[in-house]
Amino acid sequence: MEHEEMSLFPGLSRRDFLKTCGALAGLIGLSGPMAVPKVAEALEQLAKRPAVVWSLFQECLGCSVNLLQSRKPAPANLILQQISLNYHEAVMAAAGDQAEKSFNDTVNSGDFYYIVEGAIATTPKEAITIHGKTAADIVTSTYKKAKATICIGSCSCYGNIQAAAPNPTGAKGVGDFLRQDAGIPDAVVINSPRCPGNADDTVAILLYVLVNKKLPELDSIGRPKFLFGVTVHDNCERRGHFDNGEFVQVFGDEGSDKGWCLYKVGCKGPVTYAPCPKTRWNGQHGWPVTSGGPCIGCAEPDFWDKLTPFYDKAPGFHIPGDITPAQIGVGLGALTAVGIGAHFIGQAATGRLFKGGPVEGKEEEAGPKEGGK
Ligand code: SF4
Ligand code: SF4
Repeated sequence: MEHEEMSLFPGLSRRDFLKTCGALAGLIGLSGPMAVPKVAEALEQLAKRPAVVWSLFQECLGCSVNLLQSRKPAPANLILQQISLNYHEAVMAAAGDQAEKSFNDTVNSGDFYYIVEGAIATTPKEAITIHGKTAADIVTSTYKKAKATICIGSCSCYGNIQAAAPNPTGAKGVGDFLRQDAGIPDAVVINSPRCPGNADDTVAILLYVLVNKKLPELDSIGRPKFLFGVTVHDNCERRGHFDNGEFVQVFGDEGSDKGWCLYKVGCKGPVTYAPCPKTRWNGQHGWPVTSGGPCIGCAEPDFWDKLTPFYDKAPGFHIPGDITPAQIGVGLGALTAVGIGAHFIGQAATGRLFKGGPVEGKEEEAGPKEGGK
């Protein structure tokens, strides 16, 4: 009978539901015969519509737009239809006192997940107020009551462009604000950076919490390791060209046409920890490198100050292939030597020839560190 083939999710057959469960299990790192049933059970719990409160602070609404444009059959679309989004200033029907009541009722219940989009102003705190309260006060009191707090997008994680020099409002990410300014030195928030925040990341994190009934393991700057544990470079579809020493030299050249590596025109993939090549964008169709644009490192703290200019090589990151024939000093025959060497160098540079990898310092600087940012 037709109804027996349907899942709990309207419009989705049981078969498609299980297929989606399989994709989600892979995303959160589950494998083995129990992976799909575990995810299916967690998704079916969503039929109980867990409550979510979503705050907007110093932001551009891009993360919410990314969420709203999540389309079928994307997992984000599936799951976000099932949560009870009790408060979101941009999309809720309620306004004024009615909206405030919904916020207070949900937060006072203590039975909700808290999602934050946007940075927190600290100098002065009044640089952003909502219904007469500062973002600083709202986030402090709401964090204390939430089952878990998830920061979506680089603004709420690390401040993003609001925190770029000279940072006129003292903007900070939520975690840093809570630990440094709100008197909660052991505050733990889950950071899901990228600009904008990716809806599938957020959903994967929510799902991880529901399936495992605990927070995911985080790196030292609050990112779930199961999503942000490897660099963009590690999963990039152009990685073979990097290894072969095949680089775009200027946009529009022959290398561009051939889809070669974008490192020399500014790609920050080697120093950026993010799942972009896997979870992608626009209904999972592509990501910047797919369309010939370099990664700008938006998932890293302070990328506006540390990883610009966008179309220049990452500071502190060099590959031996940058050496010119003159520096090698071999005159005639140098091009052949460089040609042969490029492959060798590429292998060494990626750690495939020698363990330990290529980069001089930057990976250490940009990657997870002990003791926070
Ligand atoms: S440098 Fe950029 S384009 Fe090249 S392989 Fe790495 S991530 Fe891909
Ligand atoms: S590819 Fe780089 S710039 Fe683009 S969203 Fe991912 S981390 Fe940000």
